[in-house]
Amino acid sequence: MSLLMDLHTHTIASGHAYSTLKENLEQARERGLLVMGISDHSCVPPAPAIPYYLRNFKVFTPYMLGIRLLKGVEANIVDYQGNIDVEEQDLARLDYVIASLHQQNLAPGSRLQNTQAICGAIRHPRVNIIGHPNDGVYPIDFAEVVPLAKQHQVALELNNATLRANAGRERPRELAIEMLELCKQHQTSVIVGSDSHIYYDVGEFSQAKALLREVHFPEALVINHQLERLSRIKIHL
Ligand SMILES: [Zn+2]
Ligand SMILES: [Zn+2]
Repeated sequence: MSLLMDLHTHTIASGHAYSTLKENLEQARERGLLVMGISDHSCVPPAPAIPYYLRNFKVFTPYMLGIRLLKGVEANIVDYQGNIDVEEQDLARLDYVIASLHQQNLAPGSRLQNTQAICGAIRHPRVNIIGHPNDGVYPIDFAEVVPLAKQHQVALELNNATLRANAGRERPRELAIEMLELCKQHQTSVIVGSDSHIYYDVGEFSQAKALLREVHFPEALVINHQLERLSRIKIHL
């Protein structure tokens, strides 16, 4: 079965990505995706936050170039309670929210602090996906995170970019395997995301697919296989 959706894509609006929305959509179509989500960073210092960018999403039509476009954001987790840096009035306009830890926005804490940060974000009612939880820069306790994600209808991301040799993360593969094994045990869904910062990476999932095969991960727990599975994580088409 193929992966039909990529909900982690960046455009030039992120400030450090290199393609336009149209280029990303064209690539999504070429790869046979049915749904693409746009998830530019909410804020990367020194760039300001992007409320005006989010507020003008009203210009989007539900389908562009034949692809169902979902309006999202990759919000930063900004403290160890798990608060994120997008205002509720802006979150309310979006189809989905990815919450991620990034070093520009929160210094890595202890394992306990990082885990509390992720768990706080999971409990946030607007958060649908935790971005790259296998980023070893922020060690977390997956035994705590994985069942909580299931309980709050949040998917943990299997991030293709972090699995690349040049990703500059710490032990991303080992941590992804640890996460996937616990997801199997707790029946927690994962979502594969490209984290593309240039058009040709949209829908590029080879590393993630290989890892899913390697650990015999159940197809039924991978959101990307069926559009209806988005409802498991509170996303409605
Ligand atoms: Zn980025
Ligand atoms: Zn990220």
